[in-house]
Amino acid sequence: MAQKDYYEILGIDRNATDADIKRAYRKLAKKYHPDMNPNNKEAEQKFKEISQAYEVLSDPQKRAKYDQFGHAAFENGAGSGAGGFSGFDGFGMGDIFGDIFGDIFGGGMGNRRRNGPIKGADVRANVSISFKEAAFGTEKEIRLSLWENCETCHGTGTKPGTHKETCKHCGGTGEIRYTQNTFLGTMTSVRTCDVCKGEGKIIKHPCHTCSGKGKVRKNKTIKVSIPAGIDNGQSIRIQGKGEPGEKGGPNGDLFITVYIEKHPIFERKGNDIYCEIPITFVQAALGAELVVPTLEGNVKYTIKEGTQTGTVFRLRGKGIPHLRNPKIRGDQYVKVKVDVPTKLNEKQRKLLEEFANISGDEVYQQRKGFFEKVKEAFGEAFGN
Ligand SMILES: [Zn+2]
Ligand SMILES: [Zn+2]
Repeated sequence: MAQKDYYEILGIDRNATDADIKRAYRKLAKKYHPDMNPNNKEAEQKFKEISQAYEVLSDPQKRAKYDQFGHAAFENGAGSGAGGFSGFDGFGMGDIFGDIFGDIFGGGMGNRRRNGPIKGADVRANVSISFKEAAFGTEKEIRLSLWENCETCHGTGTKPGTHKETCKHCGGTGEIRYTQNTFLGTMTSVRTCDVCKGEGKIIKHPCHTCSGKGKVRKNKTIKVSIPAGIDNGQSIRIQGKGEPGEKGGPNGDLFITVYIEKHPIFERKGNDIYCEIPITFVQAALGAELVVPTLEGNVKYTIKEGTQTGTVFRLRGKGIPHLRNPKIRGDQYVKVKVDVPTKLNEKQRKLLEEFANISGDEVYQQRKGFFEKVKEAFGEAFGN
């Protein structure tokens, strides 16, 4: 019997990414899984095919061989050495079932762990800080609403003076075992008891404070220290400050994403700071001592005469400290922008006109030089 093309089986094209392959497989595996199609030989065959296709295409080495040699790559003696294609005996049940089916069946395969310790959920929060706080680090208080053990019942969920009762449905084990005949042979599966949700015990008289949950929502304030050099959108992880664990499990973690407010004059790129400062055309022409704002206040910087608009100078070490080594800092780049006056009084106008008269020839020479270059580049049409 001719074998079908693996890509065709999964309904993907040959350029599919690993994620595409996984997605296609999940969809089909869910549809044709024997548990979903009891006593359906066709679905069983289909499931076998897609699983085989997935085993090959999800493994970069096997996929490369398959792309080159087709099914021949996995026939005996060829391809991946002893046995070639591993077939279903070597099917990575643990991997595949944990990885893929764990999600599909809502963790049904792993529920035996239900009675063991469970790590609390991670919690995410945002905090907004100023440009300067990001540069030098800060401490912030964050308000969160987190679960906490109920004080009335001490986390048991039962009304004080009462106790949990053993679940009759599962005999207190929290699981229901059942056997099934599948193409893989007889499989004993375990399902979480849905009466007690895997607890093995049932609360007959729930605590009034927490309605039997054993925990209540509480507002908490947490102090967070934000390191110098943090950049916009980066997160800080605070271990153990998330939701409380259950049955002796550790607490979840708290992830705080930091947002940095815009600064009126500074802009940040990595660890460097950029800013633009206006100067007068007289300062530009004659040179001047400028007052330049930095993160730590104003500094003086002398520009030389004849400074052009757009000139950038660098203040070494005036940037943002590195997150991992705050002793190392970025630089500050300052761009000067020459402001041309828009309103002149009579005297100013006169002086400037005089200036133009004196230096007119020189300016003209420069203009001429420019237009000659234009002519060279574009031809006579652009001549002055
Ligand atoms: Zn309670
Ligand atoms: Zn039960």
